[in-house]
Amino acid sequence: MIEPITERMRADVVVIGSGPGGAITATLCAEAGRSTLLLEEGPDLPLDAAPHFSSDEILHKYRNAGVTMAFGNPSVSYVEARCVGGGSEVNRGLYHRTPPYILDQWAGSHHVDALTADALTPHFEACEGTARIAALPGAPPPLSQRLGDGAAGLGWEAIAAPRLYDYEAGRKQSMSATFIPRFRRAGGRLIADMRALRIRRINGRWEVTARHRCTRDVTIIADALFVACGAVQTPALLRRSGLRRNIGDSLRFHPMLKVVALFDAPVNRPGDPDPVHQIKMFEPRFGIGCSISSPSMLALALATNAQMRAHIATHADRMGLYYVQNGTGHGRVRALPGGCDPLVSVRHEAAGLDELYDGVRHLVRALFAAGAIMVQPCLPGFAMLRSVEELAAWPEHLPRRSALLTSVHVFASCPMGENRRICATDSWGRVHDADGLRIADASLMCGPTIANPQGSVMAIAHRNALQAIERRFA
Ligand SMILES: Cc1cc2nc3c(=O)[nH]c(=O)nc-3n(C[C@H](O)[C@H](O)[C@H](O)COP(=O)(O)OP(=O)(O)OC[C@H]3O[C@@H](n4cnc5c(N)ncnc54)[C@H](O)[C@@H]3O)c2cc1C
Repeated sequence: MIEPITERMRADVVVIGSGPGGAITATLCAEAGRSTLLLEEGPDLPLDAAPHFSSDEILHKYRNAGVTMAFGNPSVSYVEARCVGGGSEVNRGLYHRTPPYILDQWAGSHHVDALTADALTPHFEACEGTARIAALPGAPPPLSQRLGDGAAGLGWEAIAAPRLYDYEAGRKQSMSATFIPRFRRAGGRLIADMRALRIRRINGRWEVTARHRCTRDVTIIADALFVACGAVQTPALLRRSGLRRNIGDSLRFHPMLKVVALFDAPVNRPGDPDPVHQIKMFEPRFGIGCSISSPSMLALALATNAQMRAHIATHADRMGLYYVQNGTGHGRVRALPGGCDPLVSVRHEAAGLDELYDGVRHLVRALFAAGAIMVQPCLPGFAMLRSVEELAAWPEHLPRRSALLTSVHVFASCPMGENRRICATDSWGRVHDADGLRIADASLMCGPTIANPQGSVMAIAHRNALQAIERRFA
């Protein structure tokens, strides 16, 4: 059903942003009997509107067609989704619960109440029940298995990560396929193509000024307001609205470096399931995994390496793209006049970049142990390797000009906790000194999750929404 749009609208609860954080929050509020309006800037498109990771998908479901940058030395080129369901629509759905040692760190640094692994378990279970987590049935695709074999050959451990995926139906899972139908069944109203421009507190309520389809201005009044626009857009909206205390000062990423391996036999056939192997034993220093290795993704990764790129035309079936990532880099989000995209900046400590670089060396070793005959790091100025011994000629530190960092995980721009010196909200997402206003997305994390983040975002949104409902949104 299409939601009628009028110049002034009202709801008990308004949730801005329909990614995992917003969709789960809105679902629980609607199921608690509150009239709930979920606003989403992007379009409402079916999960299969475009092939996964195709240029069509990037054009229609990503912000700025996938071109967004955190400026620094080096810069980080990151992507955000912009569609109903947010990042869950476009991601690979590799799934992990938050590692308990990360929760302990957050409790220590940010003084977050009741955020232990035990306390979060029921929230993980509740989200997993609807979102559907599954292990790949049967043999993993060769590209993935090679990483597992390489790790085993070096005496390391690799895992096959579970995913948010319905393997019986051969369909990835996302908010538009799971929580949003549940939200609608509970009577929740969703308005797509509606960008929140500003919020303000007036007469004990929250007023959202929004624009529909870039043309029509709408005012929405809410008793309780949740902002769930993702870790970059949430601080941008709050700062535009004059809320600045610890907002947008502590953005974190999982920056990645990539390498391409050429194997002695086909590993990468069209129609293979997505790869799932990960090497997690070196975390939090760095983690290793497999990327989507379609010819277009290989070409993008090899943009600065013409020699290996030339092999794509004839040998794409023998090539695989792999990544190393960690949590290095501290960013800031600042709203710019005019309400357009915010300015995002990042700075890196040498130690974090060194750990990432060490991760690339480990990955290269694993790929040669797995039978690679050539490995090309996607680092400008780095030559193709034909043996593991050639690693000895690499510089001791990664030159910053070669650190071509990309990221698909952003968080921690408005951290939660009782440490008011650094936290934007209390331990449950309530923005300090702003009654009835809560944050409900990846912004709330107190640092990098190290594991793939969607599980953490979902469970924490679930925990905080139940607390808000129990407290009658006070
Ligand atoms: C390509 C890609 C691959 C990924 N792979 C994985 C993976 O395999 N596993 C994993 O765990 N995680 C993965 N992630 C990360 C995961 O998707 C995110 O951590 C998660 O989606 C964050 O949820 P969120 O609710 O914080 O925000 P988002 O998912 O970013 O949702 C925010 C929503 O708010 C909307 N919005 C923003 N501003 C406004 C506004 N002003 N008004 C109205 N609406 C607004 C946006 O359009 C967006 O739809 C990936 C992400 C990407 C982009």
